[in-house]
Amino acid sequence: MTTGDAPREGLRGGPRELLRLVASGAAASRADLARLSGLSPSTVSLRVEALISEGLLQETGDGKSRGGRRPRQLAVPTGGALVGAVDLGAHHARFGTLDLSGRVVEVRSRPVRIEDGPEAVLGDLLDEVAALAPGGSGPVPGQRGGPGVGGGLRGIGIGIPGPVHFETGRIVSPSRMPGWNGFDVRAFCAERTDIPVVVDNDANLMALGEHVTTHPELDHAVYVKAGTGIGAGVISGGRLHRGAQGSAGDISHCRVVADPGALCSCGNSGCLEAVASGAALVAALREQGLPVEDLTGVMRLIDDGDRHATALARRAGRSIGEILAVVVNFFNPQVVAIGGRLAECEPLLASMRATLYERCLPLATQALLIERVVAGLDVGIVGAAQLVIDRIVDRD
Ligand SMILES: [Zn+2]
Repeated sequence: MTTGDAPREGLRGGPRELLRLVASGAAASRADLARLSGLSPSTVSLRVEALISEGLLQETGDGKSRGGRRPRQLAVPTGGALVGAVDLGAHHARFGTLDLSGRVVEVRSRPVRIEDGPEAVLGDLLDEVAALAPGGSGPVPGQRGGPGVGGGLRGIGIGIPGPVHFETGRIVSPSRMPGWNGFDVRAFCAERTDIPVVVDNDANLMALGEHVTTHPELDHAVYVKAGTGIGAGVISGGRLHRGAQGSAGDISHCRVVADPGALCSCGNSGCLEAVASGAALVAALREQGLPVEDLTGVMRLIDDGDRHATALARRAGRSIGEILAVVVNFFNPQVVAIGGRLAECEPLLASMRATLYERCLPLATQALLIERVVAGLDVGIVGAAQLVIDRIVDRD
């Protein structure tokens, strides 16, 4: 880039921000972009030209007011230019295609057996995503450099329910994913397609998805994903903060001091995941002799007012709140939002909220929003697509 104010992911006036202003309808011309971003018209022009040459923006409606001063209109191309997205969970996968503005074009979901291993699970999902793309009618083409590789997709974003070393796309010590430890997702995908594949953990995807759809105006946020496992994604300065290796926000093995007894899958005891995750609730209720198969069963018991299940949910909420209180005091976010299946659990949410107010500095909570993630079932694939769009926009 030749301009002084270098574009960086998520910063005001970067290419991604310009793209988002057009995609959201806030801006329809270079003049709008200059006004809204605060950049000079010449800088806006340079960036818009780059985005047009990438196929990320297009000009429309020119030539209609001959002789007038009407500015050329800008739009995000719809149709044709799509990205693929996969949000892999412990038991289900949601996958689909989105356009370059991040809008969902098509979405599917189906059960998966994570214990079938990465080659089988990811191989099938890649094939199914490619089949959704225009012109994609089967397996992702394996021939490098061939025309139409990836069935017309510009890239695929994949979310994994476990720790991911972001730079390499390798999975590191996941809980409840036998056979996946050390698996190089990016290398596996690179053998099957030569379009860019970006891999991240599911909590980061949820954070990105909620950030772009619900709170793009909030630059400092913590989004907690509480389902079978438990994790968080951090938005700092308007961008996803991954830390040095990609593990930022992973609160699953933070120790909850009040519960030192529960043994965790990591070999330590008293981890948040071992006392407050969906898997922990299932295990604890079974230990008490209740016939619970999975998280759905736990939620049903809580809905029915079962006192054991409700007490456990409250305890889980307190434990999550204790860890988040440290996070909030340290990081001072504008919003803490909880998503995933356990976010539907009212006793858990109430305890988490009360603990946060009790344990945090007044200055940290006086304007803090504590809420549910509201972006819905597609939040993960919206985040996955955003990874790919960011990669395309910010690659230079
Ligand atoms: Zn642990």
